[in-house]
Amino acid sequence: AKERGGGNWARYADGMERPVSAHVRLGGDLRRALDDGEFTLLYQPLVALADRRIVGVEALVRWEHPERGTVPPIDFIPAAERTGLIVPLGRWVLRETCRQAAAWLAEFGPDALDKVSPNVSVRQLHDPDFVADVAAALADTGLPATRLALELTESAVLRGHHVSQVLHEIHAMGVRLALDDFGTGESSLSLLRSFPAAIVKLDKSFVDHIEDDEPGTPEADARQAVARAVVQLAGALGLDTVAEGIENQEQADRLFKLGYTVGQGYHLARPMPADRITELLATRHLG
Ligand code: C2E
Ligand code: CA
Ligand code: CA
Ligand code: CA
Repeated sequence: AKERGGGNWARYADGMERPVSAHVRLGGDLRRALDDGEFTLLYQPLVALADRRIVGVEALVRWEHPERGTVPPIDFIPAAERTGLIVPLGRWVLRETCRQAAAWLAEFGPDALDKVSPNVSVRQLHDPDFVADVAAALADTGLPATRLALELTESAVLRGHHVSQVLHEIHAMGVRLALDDFGTGESSLSLLRSFPAAIVKLDKSFVDHIEDDEPGTPEADARQAVARAVVQLAGALGLDTVAEGIENQEQADRLFKLGYTVGQGYHLARPMPADRITELLATRHLG
């Protein structure tokens, strides 16, 4: 058994005691933060590798905490998921993303960007109001359904019949579904048969070091083989692809040669506030 340190401990529903982590303590603060409007969204461009045109943006939440400063999602999303606060937080993310995307399309026209992508947690898919919330966010902001692409992880999608039903309803509305972190799950390939995905996002772990090809280490070779297999399979199934976490030009070049046409990563563009995206959309291209 674990030593009891000086920290706080809590008894969980399963009877086990675990330390009350910073995440759990943050949980109590999350509701107030949502009510006080402390969450903001950054947007990271999805970029056409051929000409650096912005084809979409992913919305990434931040917490502007009055004392802690900017808190990254890794430090509060797990607590939000455990406490259920991810449902109202996710609803806000969805609405704000749709509102912002509709404003960009109104300002710059229908070719300004193809889609906007918020992340969605599995907890949200189990909320009975989820489908209605998506429909209302689109109706109230005027964003066409086809401009919205929800990012879901494989593990979220593999949660049985109810989730599958919800995703088919969302798909039927014309909203696109993107499989995030693709290739890291256990049944990536079989999942594509049953899930109405439009986009697969190749996980960063297959992009890291994909450019080192000197007498290939088995690991580097395996990464390239996965990257190639994913883009070929996606092509055969009529799905779009995005390669995530591109950190240098060699990776962008290698992925482009493998058949990836869209990438995302610090080398292409960092996550940035909406007004920076507005400036970029005015010129259409990244520098
Ligand atoms: P994700 O959906 O896989 O998002 C990509 C993450 O990788 C983002 O981190 C992004 O800033 C980061 N990233 C992008 N390009 C690069 C790169 O070239 N190198 C490296 N090292 N990182 C890169 P971020 O914003 O900290 O978000 C982390 C995770 O938090 C996201 O992973 C997503 O799972 C979750 N998340 C973010 N916003 C939301 C949200 O609104 N709702 C939910 N449910 N989850 C969210
Ligand atoms: Ca994502
Ligand atoms: Ca991802
Ligand atoms: Ca991820």
